[in-house]
Amino acid sequence: MQGLWLSNGSWAFKTDLLDPVVGLDESLVAVQAAGICGTDLELARGYYDFNGIPGHEFVGRAVSGAFAGQRVVADINLGCGQCLRCQAGVHRHCAERVVIGIHQRAGAFAQFLSVPNKNLLPVDEDLSDGLAVLAEPVAAALEIIEQMPKPLPSRVLVVGAGRLGLLVSEVLASFECDVTILVRSPERAVHLQNKSIQVVTSIESESFGWLVDCSGSSSGLTTALRAATPQATLVLKSTLTDAVGVDLSPVMVKELTVLGSRCGPMDKALAWLGAGHLNAPLSVCYPFSAVHSALEAAKEPRFFKVLLEPDQR
Ligand SMILES: [Zn+2]
Ligand SMILES: [Zn+2]
Repeated sequence: MQGLWLSNGSWAFKTDLLDPVVGLDESLVAVQAAGICGTDLELARGYYDFNGIPGHEFVGRAVSGAFAGQRVVADINLGCGQCLRCQAGVHRHCAERVVIGIHQRAGAFAQFLSVPNKNLLPVDEDLSDGLAVLAEPVAAALEIIEQMPKPLPSRVLVVGAGRLGLLVSEVLASFECDVTILVRSPERAVHLQNKSIQVVTSIESESFGWLVDCSGSSSGLTTALRAATPQATLVLKSTLTDAVGVDLSPVMVKELTVLGSRCGPMDKALAWLGAGHLNAPLSVCYPFSAVHSALEAAKEPRFFKVLLEPDQR
């Protein structure tokens, strides 16, 4: 089959990839579209020592198994099913877990992938591919709501206007939070659909009691630490692998609560998308063979999201 192979930081389009092995209680899924995410770029920089087929934000059509014929998305964390964490329902923290397209399991930048049936969720036919492919990052954004103590603080600052920062802003605004987003490039603000979200390009120090860092950069994290009021809650949402040199003393001096946040509930993400909170955003889709153009486009602020799809043959 055709698809992308990432090895030692370089991306290659291949037409001779081995078809996925479909295990017991797994389904074969034909990929329709898969999004490029900041984590994919981190994988290319050596995060998790990943060699193989990446891609973890996708929508496809099941060609075998319990959902054969239906469009599906997937919970990407595969636990062992045996340990105490798996049995307590937190398989995403299983020590033996593999993660589709991120850690020891082939992902969706290929014509096909195999997925355990219990990780698949059918997608309502009314939901477009352009929205369904956002289920994984929307779930990650909803995880903030799951984790935060209630009632939620009324004001929140989102740092960073990459795809995740924009989605986090939309999700938090839909929960009636007063959202301010700090953008580096004002062009990114055109992608915001909820008009109540305030856009700023700089921030006063010590002005927010709740902050979500989606910047993926040490400078973004430093800004968030500076913008936090004493006793604020700082949610770390993006993959940041170069935090070396960030001065963490504000965490202690201001007694901040730091909340790490990763994957979230896919069922709630599909429900949130189905409720019409978002119109399909401006995305651009490249065939797998044009991966290098796609990676260039992913750096351009004018696209909300860059997708990859199988080459038509
Ligand atoms: Zn992602
Ligand atoms: Zn386990």
